[in-house]
Amino acid sequence: MIIREIEVDSLVSASKLPDADYVINPYVGCLHSCQYCYAEFMKRFVPISEEWGNFVYVKSKWKKPINVDKLSNSKILISSVTDPYHQIEQRYMLTRKILKFFIQSSCQLEILTKSDLVLRDIDILKRIPNITVGISINSTNDDIRNIFEPKAKSVYKRIEALKILNREGINTYLFISPIFPELSDVKRLIDITRPFVGYYLFENLNLRGAYKKRILNLISEYFPDYFSLYTKIYTTNYGKEYWSQYEQNIKKWEQEGKQTFKIYFHH
Ligand code: SF4
Repeated sequence: MIIREIEVDSLVSASKLPDADYVINPYVGCLHSCQYCYAEFMKRFVPISEEWGNFVYVKSKWKKPINVDKLSNSKILISSVTDPYHQIEQRYMLTRKILKFFIQSSCQLEILTKSDLVLRDIDILKRIPNITVGISINSTNDDIRNIFEPKAKSVYKRIEALKILNREGINTYLFISPIFPELSDVKRLIDITRPFVGYYLFENLNLRGAYKKRILNLISEYFPDYFSLYTKIYTTNYGKEYWSQYEQNIKKWEQEGKQTFKIYFHH
């Protein structure tokens, strides 16, 4: 495991994401080591031979400090290509340090994580006027979580974190991502979490690049009954039909409650 502290020009980057003007990624690398991690491409930008998941660059020094006045009223996501609360945050407390800049600011801050470590910072979150915390979960089954997200927090801890955040008066959302065909029990997740989740985002499992083979190998090893379905979805045009039908189901489920659903399937 390689941990290196680095200096960066600025922590804040302009974003091309649909719902964020800026993103802040306190770390390069992420110790959650999800098998489907889309952020693995970040490895191209660091001169390191370690596998993704085995190194972290900690952006501990910034040439330009965070200028909250310049960012006023903008939407800022923490984080897009790392988890702001993966294991290393316990030691460096960098996300906590960043959040302090936004106390009483006019920015619309959004945190996205797979960890209940975010609860440590409730004292600061409560002092940021416009903040939403999103937790990402894709199944209620911890055995499935253990296969695809072996180093991330348990499903139970993440659901409890949403409950506590809601109880403390902090806006929450649930990011159901990535949805694994036939393995993600999306409807159940929605039903369990409705009382303490403000809105929902949905993203399907996209298989591209290096992790396509890895995921298909894991399906073949742990869920052989679904292997032919996965091959059909991810190697033929059937994928479009499958996800369109799934989208229709999600829209139906949306009618059953008061929360807004946003679907990010086609990207
Ligand atoms: S938490 Fe996000 S950034 Fe971290 S390994 Fe998992 S998918 Fe990648």
